Amino acid sequence: MPEGHKTHYLAREHTAWFAGQSVRVLSPQGRFQSDARKVSGKVFDRCEAVGKHLFYCFDGGRIVHVHLGRYGKYRDLESPPPRPVGAVRMRLIGRQRTMDLTGPSTCRVIDSVERDRVVSLLGPDPLAGGKKSHVWRAVQVSSKPIGALILDQRVVAGVGNIFRAELFFEIGMDPNRRGCDLAKSEFDLLWKHLVKMMKVGLKYGKIVTVTAKEAKSRLVDLEGNDRFRVYSKDDCPSCGHAIEVLNLASRKLYWCPACQSV
Ligand SMILES: [Zn+2]
Repeated sequence: MPEGHKTHYLAREHTAWFAGQSVRVLSPQGRFQSDARKVSGKVFDRCEAVGKHLFYCFDGGRIVHVHLGRYGKYRDLESPPPRPVGAVRMRLIGRQRTMDLTGPSTCRVIDSVERDRVVSLLGPDPLAGGKKSHVWRAVQVSSKPIGALILDQRVVAGVGNIFRAELFFEIGMDPNRRGCDLAKSEFDLLWKHLVKMMKVGLKYGKIVTVTAKEAKSRLVDLEGNDRFRVYSKDDCPSCGHAIEVLNLASRKLYWCPACQSV
């Protein structure tokens, strides 16, 4: 599932491709057809990301709300576009670009009231100026493990399973610790590294947590698991201890108990 860096990356890209244009909106698969008609031909203003949600804003106040979920994918094509391949839920056709969306968990037309309601259910988004103090307020009163809290979109928006594993390894923290047991200075450190990691992810359009020195390669060229330190790894890059898998908030958390003892 794309994490917050990816939605922000897509929002920038799609705004650059379609802003100011009258965009045709179709649903070759048919499931989004009646909603597509409500926005097709209108001038596209911008795409905004909040956490893992995307909002495509059109003149007149209508908004296409997309959540990619686990299977959602975009495909970039030239305009005029070729015949759709697969179950294309939404197709946006601009002057030079066409974009196909398949498999999203949400794709619907809403208004600004509903957009605000969706956003109100989310915690602060580190890449959208979300306030650290608001996240700390939720963390310091919770007896849940910090490793579960950080994945809860109501606490902080945009963090997914890969960022979570890499973040706790980076700061050497045991993800089982209760939120209420964290000192403010520990939370400050966690937040600082989370924001930094997400900004690097936004820069490259993919999560990269290793350094160029560790990777022995240019970061931009890294693909797959080579980009990570602990996520889906067998051995700890620092101490050589076997990476263990913890089930926390119903997702696998990769960690090194030897290095993450704080
Ligand atoms: Zn280790």
